Amino acid sequence: MKIIDLHCDVLYQLSKSSEPLQFSLAPQLQASKDKLQSGHVIVQNFAIFISEHVPPAEKFTEAMRQIELFHTNVLQPNPEIIHITDWKQLESLREGQIGAFLSLEGCDAIGEDLFKLQALINAGVKLVGLTWNYENSVAYGAEEAPDKGLKPFGKEVVKLLNEKDIIIDVSHLNEQGFWDVIPLAKHILASHSNARALCDHTRNLTDDQVRALVKNGGHIHVVYYPPFIKKDTENVTLMDLAGHVKHLADLVGVEHLGLGSDFDGIYKTVVGLQNAAQSQNLIATLLEQFSTEEVEKIANRNFLDYVKNIE
Ligand SMILES: [Zn+2]
Repeated sequence: MKIIDLHCDVLYQLSKSSEPLQFSLAPQLQASKDKLQSGHVIVQNFAIFISEHVPPAEKFTEAMRQIELFHTNVLQPNPEIIHITDWKQLESLREGQIGAFLSLEGCDAIGEDLFKLQALINAGVKLVGLTWNYENSVAYGAEEAPDKGLKPFGKEVVKLLNEKDIIIDVSHLNEQGFWDVIPLAKHILASHSNARALCDHTRNLTDDQVRALVKNGGHIHVVYYPPFIKKDTENVTLMDLAGHVKHLADLVGVEHLGLGSDFDGIYKTVVGLQNAAQSQNLIATLLEQFSTEEVEKIANRNFLDYVKNIE
């Protein structure tokens, strides 16, 4: 079954590796091209993630460097990887092609400069998380105090993202930031988060948050990272991950769910889901609990429907 994956950190791995890695077949990558192909991933997000250790003055350059790697290492040597800059392109992907689109995992790279955000949007960024885990000029991340909300500059950022029809990603946002952005965002979703009711981690969403997200047109894409699935992170199974899908489906319906692996951003993996090549193991597990039509929705159709509503 075809899969659309809303989060991976391939660009970060390419950027930090001391030896040159080839996206096409590097064994070190969890989401190399050959693995995406064997796992039937037909659309893959590529996040621009800047480590908190990069000095503020260098963060924007680092973001541009990852975009450069996206072109030179992901797109140019691999003609079957199609750069998605307009969501309409998803409808015309042919058999054997993989759609690839950019996201920004946290606005740290733009400092307090909307022109930098505009430049990243012009470069093809289609999905923007306001924060990673920490505070920036826009808001506070999941590792910060839960009661601090969106900053004044954050409201300007949201306004620009709305004007440009860019999707806002709440996956790494703290709680108050989430509640502040919900009524403001035109297009919103959580690209890689699970149910906090099943695993009490600040990266996961409470049932109230999931209901509010969906009420505002949002989707939640479940993430394959063991610490976000279960407290005891040893031997986390595909059934444990499917449990989050079941909980969320019971809460808001399968129509609002999707997948966001986080491959190449995770150092622990679910048993049987170690890399993108094993993605169909998750599909098989979901098929034990849901109909084929329902799993198809979670795996790809819901996101295709979601972007149809974006002009
Ligand atoms: Zn992340």
